[in-house]
Amino acid sequence: MNNEIKDKFGRRLRYLRISVTDRCNFRCKYCMPNNNFEMMECADILRYEDILFASEVFASLGVNRIRITGGEPLIRKDLCQFLDKLTKIDNIQEVMLTTNGSLLNKYAHDLYEAGVKRLNISLDSLNHERNKYITGVDKTEDILAGIKKAAEIGFKPIKVNSVIIRDFNDDEIIQFAELSAKYNIICRFIEFMPIGNSENWNENNIVYGSEILERLSAFEPQEMEKDINSGPAVNYKLNNGGIIGIITPISKHFCSECDKLRITADGKIRPCLLSDNEIDIKKALQSRDKDLLIKQIMQALNIKHDEHNVNVGDTNHDFKRTMSKIGG
Ligand code: SAM
Ligand code: SF4
Repeated sequence: MNNEIKDKFGRRLRYLRISVTDRCNFRCKYCMPNNNFEMMECADILRYEDILFASEVFASLGVNRIRITGGEPLIRKDLCQFLDKLTKIDNIQEVMLTTNGSLLNKYAHDLYEAGVKRLNISLDSLNHERNKYITGVDKTEDILAGIKKAAEIGFKPIKVNSVIIRDFNDDEIIQFAELSAKYNIICRFIEFMPIGNSENWNENNIVYGSEILERLSAFEPQEMEKDINSGPAVNYKLNNGGIIGIITPISKHFCSECDKLRITADGKIRPCLLSDNEIDIKKALQSRDKDLLIKQIMQALNIKHDEHNVNVGDTNHDFKRTMSKIGG
């Protein structure tokens, strides 16, 4: 019988997001600063064995879903072998992956064989030039080929996540709605958060969820019932058969539903994406000290706030880590 643990606001812990690397083959402008960006020391990055130990302990406390992220997880060596072990941990019902999609064509088959069935793929534009501008490389075709391959193999659902930035890709919202129907995928739009590369972030560039929905009015979006797999998104069925999701970390917080903790690639529990409070669990992991780890997990739950404090009109925050270092 597994234990179930809750934070002090009664939210049960069910979900863990683990960053396996801070490295990435992209340099998204909103995520990584282009200059003077220090990577973590290799020695500081958790070994797969440490992550598996952590996952077993979390699973014994009632966590049943794990998302692997980064940096770009698919650039870490032997990821699929690691995932094969992760998916077999008792009580873990689902292991999901968030990827930039550039290497998906190559690894989709091995991922599926390893037991990963659900993917989130980040793609901010369908335009080559724009992708090159935002990511530093143009991998549009590779990403689309990866999405196609993943759909053929049977990953379901496939979610494509786009950060919507005013005057950059907000004119593509309609195209993503069409892509959803064409590829039978869920296209989700995320509000641009003031975390990552603050040089490139500007409040005027945020397109809030309500505006995104308005721009899709021709598709007569019908709100769908929330389920365990929708995560923080509110999903809408469109009249073209597609499904879109809107994720509003700033304009409509979803903190009351938060059932997760994050582990950074260098072994810190980060209870909230939008708060720099962290607890270092590396020692507990490396010494396989289950009691200490459980104590630290409880501490992490205890320092979770009821809500983060990034709001419309009050977005002037400066977080210490970039998204690539936290694991978005
Ligand atoms: N490399 C993988 C990818 O891009 O999907 C996984 C890690 S990436 C940090 C995870 C997600 O964080 C991506 O969808 C990315 O668009 C999102 N992200 C990064 N910085 C962001 C920001 N400032 N605001 C909103 N989303 C952001
Ligand atoms: Fe890399 Fe993902 Fe960050 Fe882009 S958003 S730089 S793909 S980690």
